[in-house]
Amino acid sequence: MTPIYCLISSLFALLRSKDEENNYNAKEYFDFLFHPYIKNLKLSDNAEETRKLIQELYREFILTKKRKINLMEVEKIIIHNDLKEIHNKTLIPFKDISALKDITNKISSFIEYIKTNSTAYMHPYWNFFPDIIIEKLSEIANSELKNIRFKNTNDYFDLIENYISSSTYPFTGSPVSGLQAIGFLESRNLKFEKVFFLDCNDAVFPNIFKEDPILPHIVRGKIGLPDYKDRLNLYSFYFENLIYGAKKAFIFYIDTKGTGISPLANKLKWSIEKSGEKLKESFSFSSMNFSTKPLEPIEKTNEIKLFLQNFEFSHTIISEYLSCQIRFYYSNILKIKEINNIDDEMDKRQIGEIVHKILELYFKEKLKTGFSNYDLEKTNILRIAKEILSEYFPSYNKEGDEYLIYAQILRRIEDFISFHFSQDKDVEILDCETKENFLFPYSQNLKIKFTSRADRIDRIKGEIVICDYKTSSKPAMPNKNIEKIDFNEDIIKWGKTIGSLQLPIYSIAFSNRFNKKSYEINGSIILLGKKNIEKTMLFKDNDERKEKMDLYQKILSKILEDILNSPKFKPPEDDSQCQNCPYITICGKNV
Ligand code: SF4
Repeated sequence: MTPIYCLISSLFALLRSKDEENNYNAKEYFDFLFHPYIKNLKLSDNAEETRKLIQELYREFILTKKRKINLMEVEKIIIHNDLKEIHNKTLIPFKDISALKDITNKISSFIEYIKTNSTAYMHPYWNFFPDIIIEKLSEIANSELKNIRFKNTNDYFDLIENYISSSTYPFTGSPVSGLQAIGFLESRNLKFEKVFFLDCNDAVFPNIFKEDPILPHIVRGKIGLPDYKDRLNLYSFYFENLIYGAKKAFIFYIDTKGTGISPLANKLKWSIEKSGEKLKESFSFSSMNFSTKPLEPIEKTNEIKLFLQNFEFSHTIISEYLSCQIRFYYSNILKIKEINNIDDEMDKRQIGEIVHKILELYFKEKLKTGFSNYDLEKTNILRIAKEILSEYFPSYNKEGDEYLIYAQILRRIEDFISFHFSQDKDVEILDCETKENFLFPYSQNLKIKFTSRADRIDRIKGEIVICDYKTSSKPAMPNKNIEKIDFNEDIIKWGKTIGSLQLPIYSIAFSNRFNKKSYEINGSIILLGKKNIEKTMLFKDNDERKEKMDLYQKILSKILEDILNSPKFKPPEDDSQCQNCPYITICGKNV
C-alpha cells in the first residue's frame, strides 16, 4: 500500500465517522492530521510550524476528554488560520457530495493540494503514485457511472476505495543481466536462471478480488467479459511458466496462524510432489529486539539523592517504587510521562474517572443539604450521573458500545445508592475530594513530604474514616502477613509482599486535620467493581491498632530508607509488571 493510498483511506475513515451533528471521531481525526503528508503541509510558515500546531492541538484536545470532534469547536481550542486552512482544503469540500463525479473531482483536488503544499514530493514513495490515483479517479469521472448518486455517503467511499485499491504500478525490469527486481506481470514470457519469489502468501498473491463493486462477476460473465476466475487462471499460467522456466526457484512466504502459503504456490507444490519430485523446504526464524541496551541497575547519584529528599511522595509513588525501581526512575526522576491516547473505546481509567466525578458531585451536594429518603436520593444521583455522562457522551444514541457503557454506569450508580442506603445510611459526610499534605518524620533531621487525596471523609459512630472508591474488584490493603517481613532481605523481595500502604498513609495524612493520632483514623475502600458493592475497613473492631500502625510506619521508613540511600535503582526480579508498563520500549527489559 502506498502512502497516498493510506492517506485517502485515512481521509475516508474520518469522513465515515461523521455523525448527524457533524461530529467526527477524535481518533480518526488525529490519525488523519498526523499522516506525514498532512502534518508536513507548508502553510503560513513551514512544515515544522504545522507539526507543532497539530501536536499542540492534540495535547489541548486530550484535556477536554472528548472522543468526538466538531471542526468549529476545535478551531476555538487553538485559534490559528493554518488549522482553518487544513479543514477548508481537506475536509470541508466533502461536506456535501452530489454525485460520483463530484467526489472524484474533490479527491483529485485534495491530492493536488497535498502535492503543492506538503513536503510529500520529497518522500521516496511519492513518485508516480498520486498521478496513478488521479488517473483512476478520472476513469470513474469519465465513465457512465459519473452521475450516479448514492443515498448513503459511505457508498461513495467504499466504491472509490475498492476501485483504487485494485490498481497496481509495475516495477519494470531492465534488459540487462544480474539481479533484477520486477513485478509479477512483468515476468511474462521471460526465462530466468534463478527466481526468488517474495511474499508468496494468501491474500497477497494473486491480488484478485472476487467481488467487483462496479461490475459483479455474474454480469461480467453474461456479457462476455473476463471475471475473477479468468484472471485467476491467467495468474496461475504465468506463475507456473515463471517457476518451471527457471533453473532454480525459491518461493518465500510467511507461515503463521493468520497467514499461509498462496493457493497458487500450494497447487504447484502439490503437483510437484504428486509427480514424485522432492521439494526442499526450510524455515527461518529471526527474533527481533528493539531494546536499546540490556537492563542494568541505574546509579543513584548524590544529586538524585538530594532531589529525592525534597521530593513529594504519595502512596501511588511508593507502590510504583515497590513494583519497579526502574519505572520509578523514568517516571519521577527523568519525568518521562506517557501521553494519553484518544481511544475509540472508553477504557477502565475513563470509566473510573466518570464514576468518581458523579460521586464527588453527589456527596458535595449532600454536604450542604444532607440526605433525604431513598427514592429522592436515587433521583438526585441519577440526575447528576446523566449530567456528567452527557459531557463524556455528547451525542450518544441508544445503540452500540457507547450506549452499553452509558447504561452500565447508570446501573452501577443505582447499585451504589442502594448500597449506601443499606450500609452507610447513618454516615455523616465531612468532606469530599480533599487533599492533605504532611511531613513524615523519617529521621531527626529529615522530614519527607507526602501528599494524599481522599475521595470522601466520613464520620461513622464518632470515628473518622477516610474513604476511597475503587472501580476494580480488589481492595488495595496491607497484606495479612505483613508482620512476617524479613527486613534483612532485599526490598525487591519483601516489597512485593506488603500489599498497599494507601490507607495507612491516609490515616497519617488526615490525623493532623482532626487532631488525632494516626491509629485513631480508620480507612475504608468501597469496591465498586465487585458484583455486589463491598466496603473493606483498614482497622477491624478487635485490631491492635497502635501496634499495626507502628508496623506500617516502620515499613514506610524502611521503604524511604531504600529510596533515599540505596546506591542504585534495581530492575525487578521478574517481568510480571512489564506487560502494561509505558517504559517497556526504552528500559531494555527483554519480555
Ligand atoms: S518494562 Fe518492566 S522492568 Fe522496564 S520499567 Fe517497566 S516494569 Fe520496570
